[in-house]
Formats: sequence, structure tokens, C-alpha cells
Amino acid sequence: MPELKPCPACRSINVSYVRGRDNAQVVCLECEMGGPQPGQASAAIAAWNSLPRALRKTTNLPVEDGKYYWALGMNLMWFVVRVVEINGKMYAMMSGSEVECPVSDFIEWAGPIDAPGKCSNE
Ligand SMILES: [Zn+2]
Repeated sequence: MPELKPCPACRSINVSYVRGRDNAQVVCLECEMGGPQPGQASAAIAAWNSLPRALRKTTNLPVEDGKYYWALGMNLMWFVVRVVEINGKMYAMMSGSEVECPVSDFIEWAGPIDAPGKCSNE
């Protein structure tokens, strides 16, 4: 069974898959938020995992390629940087320059940032 993502509302990882008589649902055991109930277990889990979750800042360094928020200074400003793996090490690419900085130069991160979806008027 695929891994369940944390609760989108309270971020608890204390979430569980509950099977009813005719339907299946993922619920948060902390705040009791219930996920969508498509009926099938695999669909219920996929629906739960696809609920939007805000990014949280972390001091864990990025381990995969992608775009990330990176904090400059004492949480004063956040910039988006592209993180790439080069020869097994992770680097942040500063926009507007070709400078690669080891991700360990920075303290706070959030990401990776999902690519945008379709326009809402499509
Ligand atoms: Zn919750």
C-alpha cells in the first residue's frame, strides 16, 4: 500500500486508512479531518495524497533536484533557487548568475516547489 502523506490541515503523520462497509477513507487521527471518499482503497489513498499541502520551512538540506525556497539571513527574505545535483553533490543555482553554491551554505529551505498546474480558466 502506498505511503500516506501527513494531514494537510494539521500536518500530523498520525493518519490512517479506514475501510467502511461500502467505502474507504483516509482520516487524520489528530484533528479528524477526513479525506475524499472515492470508494476504492487505492483511490482514497491517492486522493488523500493529492490534497494540497503548504510548504514548510526546514533546516534539512535538499536531496533532490527542483526549485526551492531558500531563506536569506534571519528569515528576512525568501528566494526561489534551482537546486541541481552535480557529481553527487547538491548545489543551488543563483538566478541571474552562473554561480553554484553548495546547499550546505544555506540554513533554511522549503520545497521542492510543485510545478504550476493548468490555468483555472482552462
Ligand atoms: Zn490532522
